This record gives sequence, structure tokens and C-alpha cells, in this order.
Amino acid sequence: MIITMSYEAGKKEIERVKAKVQEIGYKYKVFHGETKTVIHVIGVTDRDKLRAEIEPLPKVENMVPIMQPFKMASREFHAADTEIDVNGVTIGGNKVVIMAGPCAVEEGTLFEIAEEVKQAGGHFLRGGAFKPRTSPYSFHGLGKKGLELLAEARKRTGLSIITEVISETDVPIVADYTDILQIGARNMQNFALLKGVGRMNNPVLLKRGMSASIEDWLMAAEYILSEGNRNVILCERGIKTFERYTRNTLDISSIPVIKHLSHLPVVVDPSHAAGYWRYVGALAKAGVAAGADGLIIEVHTDPMQAVSDGKQSLKLDTFNALMGEIRNIAVAVGRNL
Ligand code: PEP
Ligand code: MN
Repeated sequence: MIITMSYEAGKKEIERVKAKVQEIGYKYKVFHGETKTVIHVIGVTDRDKLRAEIEPLPKVENMVPIMQPFKMASREFHAADTEIDVNGVTIGGNKVVIMAGPCAVEEGTLFEIAEEVKQAGGHFLRGGAFKPRTSPYSFHGLGKKGLELLAEARKRTGLSIITEVISETDVPIVADYTDILQIGARNMQNFALLKGVGRMNNPVLLKRGMSASIEDWLMAAEYILSEGNRNVILCERGIKTFERYTRNTLDISSIPVIKHLSHLPVVVDPSHAAGYWRYVGALAKAGVAAGADGLIIEVHTDPMQAVSDGKQSLKLDTFNALMGEIRNIAVAVGRNL
């Protein structure tokens, strides 16, 4: 519920509303505008009771319910685009932010990949230290050693780090090393994990579940936001359809839909959508043209030898050339890289 105070409301009237909201048992957040103060009440279960108690209070101008089931993620809750600053790089602003790196962190190749990503103009190094794999017999990542390698790559290049956390118990250790916590498609509805990252200060990149509707995805974001972490980045990585020539179907339409419904930034992962390196460039460019705030792309020095997702990983020179094309698209839609 959004409570708008009259322009005549002073500290006393605002305090009174806040106290009443608290007494009823809800949390709130206060926004002081130039002329009016707005109070957002979070997690309302009984709208009528809230209205009955608050509306008669002095200098309350009006009360408007947030109609969407995702409250804090909605544009009704927060009209302006959310901008998230990570070590001086803003996600959700004018710049198209590029995250690139291997699917999984490997000891022998990470530093070279990081150097090349930096040289090509990337902003973040991606790489999984804890890997969710379809098979229990596949490589599951280097764990803490992988996190240490990422931290060393950050030191060497100045790139910020994004890496996945797959279990609630790993949240503190991964958060200690990384700049952005990634929640993978398979964990989009792991509610304990969502709440866990919601209690941290690191921004969270929340991938869309492979069979999740846009509403499911925004409700998952709501779990993180409602725990107090306001820095959520959504990531479209393709959904399951009947099509078999791509690994997933990149839902380009989710970008304008998210931009309409939500204030949260949205990033496109063309790699897990395509499943094949040859298609990655076109999807990356389409994402930027459709309004994505960034891209997360898998790259590798020698994709054939990569421990995971080599088939969809770009060689470094291909990635470098793609960066030039992405820059042109970004400029064409009024943004920069
Ligand atoms: C990844 O980014 O390496 C990954 C596992 O992606 P997703 O969760 O989208 O499948
Ligand atoms: Mn991968």
C-alpha cells in the first residue's frame, strides 16, 4: 500500500502514520519527495483494516494499493529505474554492462581469460566456483579454491566478480569473495537460498528459471527484496520450449515486459539460451537492442577443453569482435558501453 501525505503534513503527522502502521504490525519505508512524503507499507494482508486505521489520520491525502502480487519489485512501488553501483560501475543506468568469463573457474585459464575480458572492455568477470550440474558425476567446481582464484583475478585486472551460490550454507563464504551473488536458473525458487541472499549486502543477479513465468520470476525477486536487499538484477537466460536447435529459447519479450512492470535492471545471458557459440552474438545484440541493461557471456581460451559449457563459449577473439558490434547497437539505442 502506498500512503501519500498531504503537502501540508509535518513531522508530527508523518510520525503518527508510521507509529500506526507499526502498531498494526507492518513494515514501511518512507520517501521524502520535494513537496510530499510517501510511505510504502510492505506485506499488507488486510487492506481494509489498514485503510480504516490510516485514512482518518490527519494530513493523509490518499492510499493506493499496489495491485501486482510482486510488491517491492513493481513499478508501482518504485517508479524510477533502480540503479546499482558496483565498484563504480552502474547497472541499470545508461551503460550496457558486460560480464564475461568461463562457465566454471579453472586454474590454468582464469587469469588469461580475465585479462582478455578486461582488454575487450568488459566490466565483470563471471565464473562458477560452485556449479549446479544436471549429473551428480559431472565437475562441480573448485569451491573455495575457485573463489580465491576469482579474487586473485580481480586483483590483477580490476574487474569486479560475479559468481554463483547454490546453497544457503555457502552464502556467507561466497559473499565474502564476490561482488555480485548469482542465483542460477535451477535455484530460482529455492526460497531458503533467496532469503539467505536477501539478508546480505551484495547485489544479487537472479536468473529466470527455465520453466518460470515472468510473474514467478518477479515473485522470486520479491523474496530477496522483502528480506531487505534492494539490489536485485534480473537475468533472462532462455526458457524451455519445444525447440531443439537451441538449448533454451531466449524470451526477448521478457525485457520490455520487465521494464514495464518492474524497476529492476535486467541482463541477458545469450550463452545459456543459445547453447551453441555460433548463435550467441545475434542473441547478445538482440538483447541490447531490446533494452537489456547488460549481458553475461561465457568465454574461454580454448572452448573445446573447457570443463563445462565449452560448446556455447566464445573464443576470446570472437568475444572481442562481438564487443565492437555490441557497442554499435548500444549507441544506436541511445546507450553506451
Ligand atoms: C551459469 O551461468 O553457468 C549457469 C549455470 O546458468 P543457468 O543457471 O542460467 O543455467
Ligand atoms: Mn554455463
